[in-house]
Parts: sequence; structure tokens; C-alpha cells
Amino acid sequence: MARFTLPRDLYYGKGCLEVLKTLSGKKAIIVVGGGSMKRFGFLDKTIGYLKEAGMEVKLFENVEPDPSVETVMRGAEAMREFEPDWIVSIGGGSPIDAAKAMWTFYEYPDTTFENLCVPFNFPTLRQKAKFLAIPSTSGTATEVTAFSVITDYSKGVKYPLADFNITPDVAVVDPELAETMPAELTAHTGMDALTHAVEAYVSTLNGPFTDPLALKAIKMVFDYLPDSYKGDMNAREQMHYAQCLAGMAFSNALLGIVHSMAHKTGAAFSTGHIPHGCANAIYLPYVIKYNAREGASRYADIARSIGLSGASDEELTMKLCDKIDEYNAKLNIPKTLKEFGIDESEFNEKVAKIAELAVGDACTLSNPRPVTPAEMEKLFRCTYFGTEVDF
Ligand code: FE
Repeated sequence: MARFTLPRDLYYGKGCLEVLKTLSGKKAIIVVGGGSMKRFGFLDKTIGYLKEAGMEVKLFENVEPDPSVETVMRGAEAMREFEPDWIVSIGGGSPIDAAKAMWTFYEYPDTTFENLCVPFNFPTLRQKAKFLAIPSTSGTATEVTAFSVITDYSKGVKYPLADFNITPDVAVVDPELAETMPAELTAHTGMDALTHAVEAYVSTLNGPFTDPLALKAIKMVFDYLPDSYKGDMNAREQMHYAQCLAGMAFSNALLGIVHSMAHKTGAAFSTGHIPHGCANAIYLPYVIKYNAREGASRYADIARSIGLSGASDEELTMKLCDKIDEYNAKLNIPKTLKEFGIDESEFNEKVAKIAELAVGDACTLSNPRPVTPAEMEKLFRCTYFGTEVDF
């Protein structure tokens, strides 16, 4: 049996934030990150609309990037004190991810991250509150997904939470919030969205409900990302929807080894963090070439859907990779880890261990081609030096 789960309601269009006026409830807690939502006035608008809806409003501010276990516990505590019947999270992926975990500990104070880490094993939520998410970046799509990532800094581990219980009740996809994104963030989050859609389309869990969402998202990213990057706000609006469609696809079809590789290299090198979407953009063409050696027909579908032509599935797949390379170049994304600035001796020293960890990542399970640690290490070497994937 397969399952397909999305939010009950999704509002979109410029200014749709005002739908908050119409929510029915008594108390809402707003979970928000640093200052940008406040600075651009969206936090005040959110508070105002919720008050117009007759609700008492409390703020939980300053959720950090890559939110910690401590922040989640403080938020859950604040919720237990205030007893909201709505949790409203606004911002990039981090505050929304954190709010999903806070919600779980609000309703189930005695659960543990160890319990919640078992995929699709959550207790039944919505006993105390419903959940509304308002994204301000165009990439993670956490407003429609069943996922959240929380970091335990004391143990140095990330807890990937996955369960349809944490798929929000309501997503408010208002492109005005995404207008504030700087160009580089637009490029990286946009390529993250493309990777979500491509990986969902070729995933072993792909299906008739996720395929159309993935293909439409891919088409929209190719149509709108370069202009969105240049600051065209109509293109920016379309990208905000495209990333959301990609999220609907991957929340239900899951991902593949581009994400496994990005997860394990994001914070692995002393030369600095590799932004998630940038890592995905670098790895994507290499992984397509690796996966396509054991079946290129799904990649050929993608290539045809964006108007490419070719005599065989293999030729179409190569053209798709060329297209991704071309977009990466337009978006000033490097072609290799070396070009990104990762030190060669540090790479050589760490690559075997990173490859092993990447094979163990949850996203590897739904990748269309199996991968051994030795193959993963070879693949990483290709992404470092820009060499051909011929295995
Ligand atoms: Fe991603």
C-alpha cells in the first residue's frame, strides 16, 4: 500500500498571507527565526492578521539556522505554558522544521528524539493544535513535507524526522515573502528544488501521484530560475510555486543519493560550510550519469518534458546533464568541489569516511541504482576533479 499526503489547504498568490484573518481558533504561537521576517514587516502582518481573527498571540523568536534540540525543547515548553491551538511558523526551512518538532514535544512531552528518528513512527498529532507554515525561501518546501531536521550539537548528530503527522495542515505560499531573498540564496534554493523534483521523479518510490508534480516543478525551474536569480519578481513568484510542487512530490516519493552526498558534506570540511542547494547543484549531473548507467528512461522523460530531443534515452540523459551544467554556470555555481574551494589533501583524507556515511544516509534507500561505499567514493572523486563517471 502506498500513501500520498499533502496539507489540507494551500493558499498561494501575492498577499495571500491575509488568509490568517480567517483562521478559527483561540490562541496562536508564532515560531520565527532571526530578524528578516521582522525587518521586512511580515511578522507584524502575521501578528495583526491573527489578532483580527480574534486570537491571542504569543511569539517564539530567534530559532537559529540548523535548529538545535535545546531550541526545540524551549519552544515545546513555551507551548505547554501558553496552550495554543494553532502553531504558525514563518521563515526559511529552519523555524518551520523547529516548529514541527516543538509541536510533537508539546503534544507528547515524554517522547524522545530516539523514538522520533524511527521513520514514519510518530504518535498521532493534532490532539492539541493544528500547524500552519509560511515559507520565505523557495527551496526546502518544508511547508508541505513530512520532514524536519534537528541537530544535537552536544552529540554532533542530526536527527532526520520523517512522518506524515508533521505534514502541515495549512501552507501559505505567499511569493511576497520570497522577494526578499538575495540572489545567491535564490540560486541555491532553486537548484535544491530542481534536485528534489528530479530525485523524486527517478526514486524507487515514484508513482502516478508524484510524477506530474515533479515534472511540472522541473519545467518551471528551467523556465524561471535564471530570471528569478536576476531579480525578476514574476519569475520569483513562479519559483516559489515550483519549489512547493517539488516538495509535494518528494515528500511522498522521497529522494536519492544527491541528497545523501549533500547531507554528509555540508559541514565536513574545514574550509567552510557548503550550502545545501549548492552541494546538490554540483552533485546532480554526476549522480544522473551514475544512475543512468542502469536505466536512463526516467531521465529521458525529464529531458523530453523540457523540450530536449535525442535519438536514445542515453543521448537525452546527456543533454539533460548539459542543460544542468549550463544553468549552474548561469547561476555562478561551481562545477566541482575543487572549484568550490575544498582543499585537496583534506578531501583525500576524508573522502572514504564521508562516502561510507553517505551510503548510510536515509535518502540512499530510494535511489534508483544501488551504491557501495567504494562506488560512492569514486563518485565523490568525480565531483571533486570533474572527471567522467564511467562505472
Ligand atoms: Fe534538499
